[in-house]
Amino acid sequence: MPLTESQSQQVLRLRGISKAFAGVPALRELDLEVGPREILSLIGPSGCGKTTTLRVIAGLEVPDGGSVEIAGRDCRLLPPERRSVGFVFQDYALFPHLTVAENVSFGLDGLHRSERKKRVAEVLDLVGLPEMSQRLPRELSGGQQQRVALARAIAPKPALLLLDEPFSNLDPQLRRQVRHEVLAIVRASGSAAVWVTHDHDEGLIVADRVVVMKEGRACQAGTPSEIWRSPQDAWVAGFIGHGDLLKGTVSNGRLVTSLGDVAANGIPEGAEATVLVRPEDVVIVEHGSPGTVVRRHFSGSDNIYCVQIDGTLLHCRQPSDVEIPRGTEIKVKLKSDALPVFS
Ligand code: ATP
Repeated sequence: MPLTESQSQQVLRLRGISKAFAGVPALRELDLEVGPREILSLIGPSGCGKTTTLRVIAGLEVPDGGSVEIAGRDCRLLPPERRSVGFVFQDYALFPHLTVAENVSFGLDGLHRSERKKRVAEVLDLVGLPEMSQRLPRELSGGQQQRVALARAIAPKPALLLLDEPFSNLDPQLRRQVRHEVLAIVRASGSAAVWVTHDHDEGLIVADRVVVMKEGRACQAGTPSEIWRSPQDAWVAGFIGHGDLLKGTVSNGRLVTSLGDVAANGIPEGAEATVLVRPEDVVIVEHGSPGTVVRRHFSGSDNIYCVQIDGTLLHCRQPSDVEIPRGTEIKVKLKSDALPVFS
């Protein structure tokens, strides 16, 4: 059967992938697609199957069932080196006794010597390390080593890059800087990418599309803003975080909570439900629900106040120049009535 346009356009298609270790399922009927030049992030709690998914794509793990297609080719019988994937691991995995240039040329066996040299120079330029070609990995900083690992992965121009927690060895400040650089390099390389991280904030920042995994399945897929604004259930909302889950009961088509009521989105009358309230959804007003400020988190441009209302703790975002002492009685309400509600 000829491929449809959407099928033929995908760089990666996983269909019904299952994998168990010693009888315990790690992946359950997992489907995943990545389009040309798309960066897909896989996020989910520890043990949900993110790394196993990458290893199945790379051919380092044989699935028990399902199919793996990369750039339109069925990869079931292809070894890792023939799948057109580049892998960037958590620990860089550079060869310590080889120079930067030798590390980068590792996957370029098929090229003539002069072409190999040219490509190594090209990618070292792309990752911003043209002067470092003769150094050994131990003579580089962590961030530089990560860029060499990336250069090695993109040198053979793979259809798909696989990045597994690429910054877990870097401190938070360097991580932010290198993330920005790596993202630009991946985009410039023209490869599509699957980026695994347990840091959901990072997953939302780097990706064109996000897949949230839970217990070996893809439980929600969407753009970062779809996942942020419309988590499909309370579990995804709780995992993404940065919000409070406020309980209430549906009455006259509205979910009534201690902070006012919101549209109940078709949840039956009398049912208990939960609304996701982010700090920016809570405003301080003259007439509203009374609460007490119990804590303040200062985060540079903002203050996040923790407010106790009716035995419930809620967070409210204010500009950093709004100073409210602990113990102050304030009145708050919800800014909008169109918030994510889960039955
Ligand atoms: P983390 O964020 O902690 O790295 P993850 O989402 O990447 O987790 P995986 O490493 O894919 O999770 O593991 C999924 C499940 O499969 C876990 O329960 C793990 O213990 C199990 N598992 C993975 N590899 C093996 C293995 N080689 N042998 C046995 N069990 C394994």
